[in-house]
Amino acid sequence: MTKPILLLDVDGPIADWKQGYIDRLNLATGLNYSIDDTGYNWSIEDDLKLDPTIAASIYAEMDGPGIAASLPSTPMAVDAVREHSTLYDLVFLTAYSRNSVDWVHGRGQWLIERFGREQGNKVIHTHYKYLVYGDVFIDDKVDHLVEWQHFWLEKLGRKPKAIRFTCGKTLSDTPEGIQTAKDWMELAKLLKH
Ligand SMILES: [Mg+2]
Repeated sequence: MTKPILLLDVDGPIADWKQGYIDRLNLATGLNYSIDDTGYNWSIEDDLKLDPTIAASIYAEMDGPGIAASLPSTPMAVDAVREHSTLYDLVFLTAYSRNSVDWVHGRGQWLIERFGREQGNKVIHTHYKYLVYGDVFIDDKVDHLVEWQHFWLEKLGRKPKAIRFTCGKTLSDTPEGIQTAKDWMELAKLLKH
């Protein structure tokens, strides 16, 4: 019997892009921002009330060479992915940075370093995540999940399982039909059912 397909977003659940941004911001400003100062969304400049010029210069740095290959992993993610990949046909589903010179290559290296060649190469780089079928889809961006679940409901006549990974935050605005996991412990419980 084939294993169920698990689609897993990378930035947020397993690669800590935000921490990478904050590390560079702290270096550039000499200040000491923490990821806890940011909210759930991706508007770091609003969360930290950054000067727009500084925010833009750090965004530009994040599109520079070598960034995708050098991001930190999120806590527990690597072990959890290894474990889930024994039960699921796990596929990384990730949107690349359009402005980066080497994002796709660097992300590929990053995944292979952590998960080995076979699992690390199971990656789909796309801005059209909804087109990819899976039995389960995990993403931190709720819009992706809504769009994906709606698309496959139309195709299949049933809703495949969508899980919002909230990166440690407790959120109350998740749409009906989408499950929520704050961390990898909660996610493991949802994947067992
Ligand atoms: Mg993400």
